[in-house]
Amino acid sequence: MDCIFCKIIAGEIPSKKAYEDEYILAFYDIVPAAPVHVLVIPKVHIESLNSIKPENIDYISRIMLKIPEISKDLKIANGYRVVTNIGDDGGQTVAHLHFHILGGHKLANMG
Ligand code: AMP
Ligand code: ZN
Repeated sequence: MDCIFCKIIAGEIPSKKAYEDEYILAFYDIVPAAPVHVLVIPKVHIESLNSIKPENIDYISRIMLKIPEISKDLKIANGYRVVTNIGDDGGQTVAHLHFHILGGHKLANMG
């Protein structure tokens, strides 16, 4: 499958890893949108949040449980943002579910 994040998981494309276990991988974004910008992905190809089903919801739970720990390791636990873009109109450019962790400075208010 021609998916760059699956290739990162397989080690075919290099990445700077922030966290890894059997189910999930976190690595630094190559075009950081904040001083700290890490992507967290499931180690199976799920296209986006729109493809979440009862059968694969466990990946979301694992990612959500791990994000606060990763934020501590990244020293941004006092404040950060988690974003997932869905589809073209949502700004998704890589069709493998990923959660952006953004932090390291005071983020602009979205409201
Ligand atoms: P999105 O626009 O939400 O689909 O986010 C995709 C993100 O993946 C962007 O922020 C890109 O900078 C990032 N990205 C694309 N290719 C790589 C790569 N090889 N290593 C790390 N990050 C990447
Ligand atoms: Zn993939």
